[in-house]
Amino acid sequence: MALATAETKTSLDFGPAVALACRECGTRYDLGPLFACAECFGPLEVAYTWNSPEGDAAPVTRRQIEAGPADIWRYRALLPVPADVASKPNLAPGWTKLVPARNLARELGMRSLHVKDDSGNPTHSFKDRVVAIALEAARNFGFHTLSCSSTGNLAGAVTAAAARAGLDACVFIPSNLEEAKIVMASVFGGRLVGIEGSYDDVNRFCSELIGDPMSDRWGFVNVNLRPYYAEGSKTLSYEIAEQLGWRIPDQIVVPVASGSQLTKIDKGFKELIRLGLVDDKPYKIFGAQAEGCSPVSTAYKAGHDTVRPVKPNTIAKSLAIGNPADGPYVLDIARRTGGAVEDVTDAEVVDAIRLLARTEGIFAETAGGVTVGVLRKLLVGGALDPDAETVVLNTGDGLKTLDAVSSEARPTAVIRPSLSAFRAAVAENS
Ligand SMILES: *Cc1c(COP(=O)(O)O)cnc(C)c1O
Ligand SMILES: [Zn+2]
Repeated sequence: MALATAETKTSLDFGPAVALACRECGTRYDLGPLFACAECFGPLEVAYTWNSPEGDAAPVTRRQIEAGPADIWRYRALLPVPADVASKPNLAPGWTKLVPARNLARELGMRSLHVKDDSGNPTHSFKDRVVAIALEAARNFGFHTLSCSSTGNLAGAVTAAAARAGLDACVFIPSNLEEAKIVMASVFGGRLVGIEGSYDDVNRFCSELIGDPMSDRWGFVNVNLRPYYAEGSKTLSYEIAEQLGWRIPDQIVVPVASGSQLTKIDKGFKELIRLGLVDDKPYKIFGAQAEGCSPVSTAYKAGHDTVRPVKPNTIAKSLAIGNPADGPYVLDIARRTGGAVEDVTDAEVVDAIRLLARTEGIFAETAGGVTVGVLRKLLVGGALDPDAETVVLNTGDGLKTLDAVSSEARPTAVIRPSLSAFRAAVAENS
């Protein structure tokens, strides 16, 4: 790799990160734009100072974190970023609300439920977290263009982050995405390329493009920067624990597309325990998919430990990855923690979007309908404990997937501006 010269290496600053390590065989690599193990093709993960046997001292205290900025950079000492990251132009995502969902809990017969509402991020999805970390890696490697294959939200997060940082962007999406996601990915400038095909076709195309001179010095946030990108999801677990008063919840329901977010939420909880920032305790992680793209829940229910790819067909387009890279790890984590992976139909997704909106005043995108729908289904089926402290993720904004509910969410009445017309309409509706 051209970048692994002594000269460029000395200028890299990844804070507490010390290496990339293969998740399968443990082989270590210098920090670089690598994503697969040369020995076994396993995925590479960021390793930190505290991953060595003698290095488990916490690099930061609760007090120091609490004194930090109200965004993900309060956790910079736990992320592969330089110490001065907050002073560089970036979207400063995170520190989204953990909403006590008392009405929804009552409706579902639960004792303690919170919604971690990541629609509150700069481009209205959780993807701003992962892109912020990938951006720092791109800067470290001297890349001039940020790129990605996207199911929609990622494209907008990448083009916005590139705009703020003064980098070029070239992002790739399936051409049949929701209107709002196309507009959001395009408005920040850069190049937006629609590919005729599914997300999995887009992803395959990007893997090919990476080997081509056309993409020289491009950072594909979810391909050649994937180990760094993925670390951004840890900030969800850090925030949830801190917002609960430095406590890990008993149960958490997480959406699954590639499975990266769920895998790193587990990594984040494990780190907090290892570093003594929270008390050790068991927790259960539940994965949520839409029936029309449920390769991981299908494998879970069949007792398999590998995932057979599917052709997605669901309104939950942000989760429509038919060949999920981290699927086997999701299966492992769900089983190891005592969780499960479940799926719901598109009709149940729409129903759950409306349930969350009606009870808590939160308008979720289809991915949030998937998690809330799966929460309800797991409660009915008895896999989730209604008395245990539970967090459900909403990872995106309902304004991005209006089509899912637009035929059902209409005006109660349309009338002339007169009292008598209103009186007649009220009579008709009661
Ligand atoms: C990308 C995305 C996810 C999670 O994706 P993973 O690939 O599993 O990390 C969840 N929700 C929304 C809205 C997303 O855009
Ligand atoms: Zn390996």
